[in-house]
Amino acid sequence: MSETVVRINNLVKRYGDLVALDHFSLEIREGEIFGLLGPNGSGKTTTINCLLSLLSFDKGEIEIFGKKMSPACYDIKREIGVIMQNVAVFDELTVWENIDYFCGLYIRDKAQRKQYVEEAVRFVGLEDFLKFRPKKLSGGLLRRLNIACGIAHKPKLIILDEPTVAVDPQSRNRILEGIQSLNRNGATVIYTSHYMEEVEQICTRIAIMDKGKKIAEGTKDELKRMIRNTETVTVEMLELPEDVRTELAALPHVYDTAFDGKALTVSCSGGKHNLIRILGVLQNHELSFGRVYSELPTLNDVFLEITGTALRDKEE
Ligand code: ADP
Ligand code: MG
Repeated sequence: MSETVVRINNLVKRYGDLVALDHFSLEIREGEIFGLLGPNGSGKTTTINCLLSLLSFDKGEIEIFGKKMSPACYDIKREIGVIMQNVAVFDELTVWENIDYFCGLYIRDKAQRKQYVEEAVRFVGLEDFLKFRPKKLSGGLLRRLNIACGIAHKPKLIILDEPTVAVDPQSRNRILEGIQSLNRNGATVIYTSHYMEEVEQICTRIAIMDKGKKIAEGTKDELKRMIRNTETVTVEMLELPEDVRTELAALPHVYDTAFDGKALTVSCSGGKHNLIRILGVLQNHELSFGRVYSELPTLNDVFLEITGTALRDKEE
């Protein structure tokens, strides 16, 4: 069993009357890429700020590397690399100078620092922009600079708060691959996002948050096994008589049907031949249809079943 890197126990954080974290607990082990997934306002950034002692909290305990965390714990802080949701770099410094500055907070030795900054530059792919000031960089490149500043000193624990928001696909892929490679090189990663696809793609374990509470936790497969949905069949069609829909709803393994005038959606729980049975019913009634597809559950289905609202609907 690998060591516990972060332990959050029963954390409560209030902003006035608002309970931003409601008895929130978490344990993150060495070597994980741990995903904190939740819609905007669910408490991800608040969790990170409490974790780093940047924010005081009302109740609970936080331990990092087995030690109680507090604002003066510099020995713990130097082992953590933080990439905040809002880009925090110096406008008057160049790309190189920015990375060198942040690395210099931890690495005193000049030769070693130069090597580390070079590695960070290569890592995020900013070689061609060393003399640029942040204002000249695109959103995606700016994010990559922000990441380089956070990881140049080779921290053991890397925390990234929504690093891919408003980033072009190329930078996004680079960032996600970068996170995986930092992890392969030994770093434990905490990654927050409201994009379930990204969390699914890279995280080894995931906690889903909603309204300051942890509503589920596990690997993506474990999370999907927690819900009854195993398959969603979608049939594009323009007309669906009510009696046919009733017949579909009565099929084995079908627990929900929906029709919006463009497509029929059938939610299934278990069973192997759902698609064939559904199409069989439509054919018996000589109904025509267009595209047909079957999808496995996503983390959105997990969120939907547990909270009653879709993660997607809450975005932005
Ligand atoms: P997330 O990062 O998941 O989007 P946050 O941790 O930023 O969520 O916010 C959690 C809740 O706390 C939200 O309802 C937000 O409006 C509220 N909140 C965050 N920061 C403050 C603050 N400084 N003052 C008052 N309320 C805040
Ligand atoms: Mg946030």
